[in-house]
Amino acid sequence: MRYIKIQFAKELKEKIKNTEPTVEVGRWAYSVYFNNMGEIDSNFREILLDLSVMEEGKEFELSYKELEKIADDLIEEELKKPDLSISKSATILDEKWIMCPDCIDAWESTSKSAMVICPKCNQMFHNPRFQKDG
Ligand SMILES: [Zn+2]
Repeated sequence: MRYIKIQFAKELKEKIKNTEPTVEVGRWAYSVYFNNMGEIDSNFREILLDLSVMEEGKEFELSYKELEKIADDLIEEELKKPDLSISKSATILDEKWIMCPDCIDAWESTSKSAMVICPKCNQMFHNPRFQKDG
C-alpha cells in the first residue's frame, strides 16, 4: 500500500518533469486506480480519481505546480510513519549528508521524518535523524 503511494508520487513527479500532457497523466492515474482498487485507502482513491478527471479535457487540468504538491504531500505523509517491516537505517555522514546502506550513495538530507528514500536505488530506510518527539 505504502509502496504504491510512494511509487505513484515518484512517477507523477517524473511525468511533471517530462511535461507530459495532463490528459495523459489523468489516464495514467485512472489506470493506477483501476489496477490497485482492492488495496488502496479512501484518501488515496480520492486523489487518483481527482487526477483521472483530467483525462476529460483541458478544463479539468491541474497545473504542474498543483500536481507537484500532491506528489510531495503523498511522499511526506508516507515517510512520517516508521515502517517496522524495514530493518536497515541510513547512515549519518555529517550534519547535512546521509548515506544509503545498500548502494552507499550519499545524499543531502536534514529531514527528521521517520523514513528516508535513497534517491539512487529508491529503497526506503529508517532515518538516523528521526526524533520521535521532534
Ligand atoms: Zn541506495
